[in-house]
Amino acid sequence: MTEPDARQSSLIPDEDAGPTCIACGSEDTEPVLDLPDIPVLCNLLANTRGEAINAPRGDLCLSFCRSCGHLFNRRFDPARLVYSEGYETSLHFSDRFQSYVEELAGRLVRDYALRGKTVVEIGCGEGEFLSLLCEKGAGRGIGFDTSYSGEHEEVHRRRNIAITRAYYTPERGNYDAALVCCRHVLEHVAEPLELIETVRRGFAGRPDTVIYFEVPNARYTLEDLGIWDLIYEHCSYFTLESLTALFRAGGFEVGSASNAYGGQFLGLDAMPSETGKAGREDFQHGLDELRSLVRSFSERYREKFEEWQGRLSELAGRGDRAVIWGAGSKGITFLNALRPNEESVDLVDISPRKQGKFVPGSGHRILKPDELPGRAPKTVILMNPIYRDEVAAKLSALGLDAEIVSA
Ligand SMILES: [Zn+2]
Repeated sequence: MTEPDARQSSLIPDEDAGPTCIACGSEDTEPVLDLPDIPVLCNLLANTRGEAINAPRGDLCLSFCRSCGHLFNRRFDPARLVYSEGYETSLHFSDRFQSYVEELAGRLVRDYALRGKTVVEIGCGEGEFLSLLCEKGAGRGIGFDTSYSGEHEEVHRRRNIAITRAYYTPERGNYDAALVCCRHVLEHVAEPLELIETVRRGFAGRPDTVIYFEVPNARYTLEDLGIWDLIYEHCSYFTLESLTALFRAGGFEVGSASNAYGGQFLGLDAMPSETGKAGREDFQHGLDELRSLVRSFSERYREKFEEWQGRLSELAGRGDRAVIWGAGSKGITFLNALRPNEESVDLVDISPRKQGKFVPGSGHRILKPDELPGRAPKTVILMNPIYRDEVAAKLSALGLDAEIVSA
């Protein structure tokens, strides 16, 4: 089932160390690991198997910046990524995620007195978070997203939400917004400082505006060995240190920057800084810690990869079937790294938007939970431990008795 994969043997970083950090511009960088030839848009699900297998690929060559603690893909080519309609990253179908975002929206409206005021979201997807902010009391929502489908335009109009299918630009920055938020976008941006400065320019004369940015937490990936978090779309892997340094360099005063969602995300609240570019706090302790985590990461990655290769072959040898729960980027990365065939490993998702579509690279068809009893999986591979209770409840509702393991 899992062919030994030539692509995975080249995990040893290549020689061209010292490229410029995309967050802070320092050349004090070191290579971490290479994942060559992976699908460039793992969240762009295909309508046919053929289209999925022939999806465009690129190389992820991860480097670490010793100066600001940032991790980035030094081979990232933004021209390869076109975010169009069909790009699917919404997690809003999960109960656990839903209560997290509701709480977050409530906190922002409360903390920043957003009742009746205008909020702007950069990269708003289908407007789920804007809708929540308005539900919690914000008066008007303005969103930007190139992959917006327009499907819920009528509902949005009734809620006083307008979404433009475009990138956010400085000309669009002036909406008298009390809050500008941007969640899970910055890690996709080839020049993150440029985006931060763009946002900052839109705030000229509005020192009261606050911003909220959220990104995946790279320290979680390093510590908990979230090796399925490494995807081509993410050219940046932010740490608390690199995220804070970036916003200070971009002219913001960081109010708070902290772990969210069980440590998997970083959330940052900031205000425009009146004193121009703020200095960098001493992050030496954090940077030293990151450096040692990064050093062992490549070796631990290889061990985990080989362990999974062994487990899947054993399973296939017994003629048992496993199912990956969740066709998000982690599940898709797992399939593309280990490449089990559909006879032994299925992929299921609770989102109707994903069901019946095909995984870029591996070509697996995404199943509905209802299809599982017929396939009788013995093992459910959970891509994110945070959903364990939710998945266990769904399995028992389906009458399935399968072992749940975390990937
Ligand atoms: Zn840096």
